[in-house]
Order: sequence, then structure tokens, then C-alpha cells
Amino acid sequence: MDIRRAAFDESFIAQMLISPDGQILEANHQAGLLLQRTQNELRQLNHRDLSEENANIFEGLAEKIETNNLENWQTEHRYTRTDKTTVWIDVNVSAVREDNKVVALLLQLQDISAQKQAEEDLHRNNIDLEQFVHIASHDLREPLTSIAGFVTLLKRRYGDKIDDQGHQYIDEVLDSAKRMESKIDDLLEFSRAGRFTLTNAAFPLGSSIEEAKRTLVRRIQEAHVVFDVPSDLPMILGDRGMIAQVFQNLFSNSIKYKGAEPPKIKISAEPYDDNFWLIKVQDNGIGFDMEHRDRIFQVFQRLYTVEQYPGTGIGLAIAKKVVERHRGRIWPFSEPGRGSTFFFTLPAVSHP
Ligand code: ADP
Repeated sequence: MDIRRAAFDESFIAQMLISPDGQILEANHQAGLLLQRTQNELRQLNHRDLSEENANIFEGLAEKIETNNLENWQTEHRYTRTDKTTVWIDVNVSAVREDNKVVALLLQLQDISAQKQAEEDLHRNNIDLEQFVHIASHDLREPLTSIAGFVTLLKRRYGDKIDDQGHQYIDEVLDSAKRMESKIDDLLEFSRAGRFTLTNAAFPLGSSIEEAKRTLVRRIQEAHVVFDVPSDLPMILGDRGMIAQVFQNLFSNSIKYKGAEPPKIKISAEPYDDNFWLIKVQDNGIGFDMEHRDRIFQVFQRLYTVEQYPGTGIGLAIAKKVVERHRGRIWPFSEPGRGSTFFFTLPAVSHP
């Protein structure tokens, strides 16, 4: 018995061997079960026949593997079964070579339908939640404006009949109303960052940094901020305005949480992988303990009281939302008293 053949046939992993143009040469028992076809049936088909859109997802792949000397290649693909139901499959492709030429592709198939369903449910829940935040914050604004309005009226019209303690209470109410208003505004801004239709265009990263600096120009001057921005920053694919917002929130924090020295903000960018750049924004501020590294990205979570440092705790939540909507990631590195660095990834226009 041919051991290799048996390893292929008996494997618990669904496997198919296809020619570079997609013709199915072999399919094992598990592949038959997964795609609900007999092994014989599969051998009569081209891989394209198993796709809903009849697409040849492997077009040109053999050459790509040859020219780039790739070990393997991975994709997720939706397959159709004979009863027209579909199944999401993680496809891992390795090349079968003869004299350095790719003569066949070995596909290992894994059912990820449940995971895809969970992702879709999560996405739908997120949309519902954002809708809820948007509506709730809109609706909360109206009674709040009315509370503040009437209390102001009370103070103005009946001020002479109210004693000092009464005035103090009224001022507390107005103060709380103002704080609540700014929280609502922040929530609206946060939900806008999630709902806003992103433009997806190529732009120089430096231009979004400039935009952020322009918005903060007064605070930058007052705090004597020193920037260190390289001149050879890359092109990014995404929404320039929203990325400027990320820089604005990070710079604003570097200024707010500055140490004894004037703030120094150093920016750099380097390739992260084939499709993303890694951007670093480093400051020399007060820093924070890394045990809070996840908490600081949550809505309204902050490490200080408003009296110590003003703010509502939404800046980093917005930055995270914007970066994730660009399919990137954001994370910090910091130590108390030793400054903070925020790292995030953004889509590259072409190979970094
Ligand atoms: P806010 O500044 O309004 O509190 P953020 O969401 O921007 O909201 O930040 C959350 C918390 O993370 C801040 O309260 C602060 O404790 C911490 N933080 C963020 N950036 C920095 C920084 N550059 N240096 C030190 N601490 C920071």
C-alpha cells in the first residue's frame, strides 16, 4: 500500500489536490463529507464549480507561488453544496513542486461556518448598539437642555429670594448638567466614529499629522511642544480626516499628561507586514502602569479624576474605533514617569 496515498485518503483533515487551473485531481473522504459530494463526483469537477460565484480563486496562484517562492497561501472561501446550501471554509494551500515548477496545489479545508456566523452576529449587534448609543444620546440631550434652561431661569428670576446655600445647590445642578452634556457630546462623537462612512483613498500620512497639529495649534504653542516627525512618512489607504482625529487625540493626551519638561512627541513609521504600516507616537509624559493598558481604551474609563486632569475618557476609545475600522490594531507601551508610546497599524497603499 502506498503510505502517502493512505495519509491523504485517511486524513481527518479534508484535502483536495487540484491542478494549477483548478481541475480537481484528488479529494479525500473528509473533503467529500464536507462538500457533500462523492469523491468520484469531485474528481469530475473544477474547483470553480464549487464556488457560488463560479469564481476561480486560484487563478494565477501557481505562478505567484513560484515567483515569490511562497511556502503556502491561505484564504477563506464560501463553497456551495449540491443542495445549494453554502459552507464557509478556511483553505490552506501548499504547492506540490516538480523541478521547481508548481504542478499541483494541495488544499486543506476546514469548516469555519460557525465562526463566520458568530462574526456576523457580533457585527449586527455592534450596529444595533451604535444605533442605540446614537439615539439615546440624542434623546438625552433634550431634557438636559431643558433642566439647565429652567434652573438658569430660576436663578435669574428668583435669585433674590434664594439664600446662599440655595445658590450653591443651583450651581451644582448647572455644573452637573454641563458635565453630562459634554459626556453626551463625547458619546455622540464616539458613535459617529463607528457609523461614519469612511472614505478609502490614498493619502500621505504626514498630511493627517499636519491636520491634527493645526487643530491643536493653540495648545501646542502654550505647552511649547517639540515635534519630531520624519519627512519620509508613507502613503496610507483610508480616511484622512478620521486618521487626523486619531493623531489629534493622541497629541492632546501627550500634552495633557505631560511631565515636568515641555512635551516631546516623536512619530515614526515602519512596515508591519505586507499590507500594513506600524505607526508609533511616543511622548515624554507621566506615563501609566501597563496593568491599565486595556482599560484606557474603554469608553469613559480614565485613570484620574476630572479635578486632577480634565477629560471624559473617550479620546482613546475613538482612536481605537477608527483604527479598527481601518482593519488595524492599537496598543500602548508605558511606564509611570517614563513617557508613553502608542502603536497602531494602518493599511498600506502598496507593498511597504
Ligand atoms: P481622557 O484623556 O479624556 O481621560 P482618553 O480616552 O484619551 O481620555 O485616555 C484615557 C486615559 O488614559 C487617560 O485618563 C489617562 O489616564 C491615560 N492616558 C492616555 N494617554 C496618555 C498619555 N499619553 N500619557 C499618560 N496617560 C495617558
